[in-house]
Amino acid sequence: MSLSPGAVIGIIGGGQLGRMSAMAAARLGLGAHIFAPEPGPATQVTAIYTLADYTDHTALRRFAAQVDVITFEFENIPADSLALLESLKPVRPSAKILSISQDRLAEKQFLAAAGIPLAPWKAILHAQDLEGATLPAVLKTTRLGYDGKGQTLLRLPEDCAPAYAALEPKPLVLEGFVDFAAEISVMVARGLDGTIVTYDPVENRHKNHILDLTLAPAPLPLPLLAEATDIARTIAEKLELVGLLGVEMFVTAEGRLLVNEIAPRPHNSGHWTMDACLVSQFEMHIRAVAGLPLPPATRHADAVMKNLVGPEDMALWPAILATPGLIPHHYGKTEARPGRKMGHFNRLFPKGGLPGEFGIADAIRIEG
Ligand code: AMP
Repeated sequence: MSLSPGAVIGIIGGGQLGRMSAMAAARLGLGAHIFAPEPGPATQVTAIYTLADYTDHTALRRFAAQVDVITFEFENIPADSLALLESLKPVRPSAKILSISQDRLAEKQFLAAAGIPLAPWKAILHAQDLEGATLPAVLKTTRLGYDGKGQTLLRLPEDCAPAYAALEPKPLVLEGFVDFAAEISVMVARGLDGTIVTYDPVENRHKNHILDLTLAPAPLPLPLLAEATDIARTIAEKLELVGLLGVEMFVTAEGRLLVNEIAPRPHNSGHWTMDACLVSQFEMHIRAVAGLPLPPATRHADAVMKNLVGPEDMALWPAILATPGLIPHHYGKTEARPGRKMGHFNRLFPKGGLPGEFGIADAIRIEG
């Protein structure tokens, strides 16, 4: 079933990803009904929203009755709430996919079974499971981790016990430390009819564990990028995805690809597509969940995306607006707390014109 103009997509989650998805839906004549615990970036751009807790089954039922299909921009939705929604309306991507991506262990088990290359990993169910571990390694919670939260680098055997005690919730997962040369990601979408489209792989650079820059396309050898695209396609196929999925990967010093994690929703590392592609990741997401055709993810420009995080970056907002060539995106958040993603800007370059390493600082220079 494909949705016609006037139909309504229910979006669970009220952050910037919901905001930009709702704006993309509006361009296609589709409504968006946001379900979130409190007003936020997404409710500012939608006429209809439900403010309730993700565990409020009465509110979830009422919400489901008012929409044609349900998707999400926030992953930590309780399993029983998802099961309820799936019993009432199509949920895309499926609750099964969400349950895999919510849990690092389930995700690793799934990816390993699908033959996807991963860093060495081990489930840590008890403190003793860390005995004799190969270090350095990264100990992570299986649930609720984001932007580097919920993980600790273990360098020495004596780091293990305190890290195990401190990380919550349990169980945990131990990953071999990857001395990566680069971090890349691929956005892949799969439609109701099985059509798969992929955006060009991009390189992501982090600051304080938060995405800082995305370089599109990733300045890496083409065969490696083709392999990354194949991996993303395989994951979308094996998951029987209907929707959009971000696949984060490490490129090792030897040029091997290892998948770090997947996110079945629009992704911060796909924000460059808003200005450098014919169809943005948000439009592709909406098209996929609405059962509409998926056009090729054609990129018409090279791009650098710069995240605007916390009060320091937002102090630059007037100067960003005054700098020719920067394409600003504000998320409408009123309070700029440290570490909070407030917006981003894209800067475009002719295809093939992405600056090299020494040109990147210039590329994102803000005047004034
Ligand atoms: P994650 O929450 O798994 O996306 O991790 C956040 C960031 O921590 C990644 O983007 C990497 O920069 C770093 N990181 C995570 N896992 C590893 C690992 N196994 N080895 C090295 N760095 C890692």
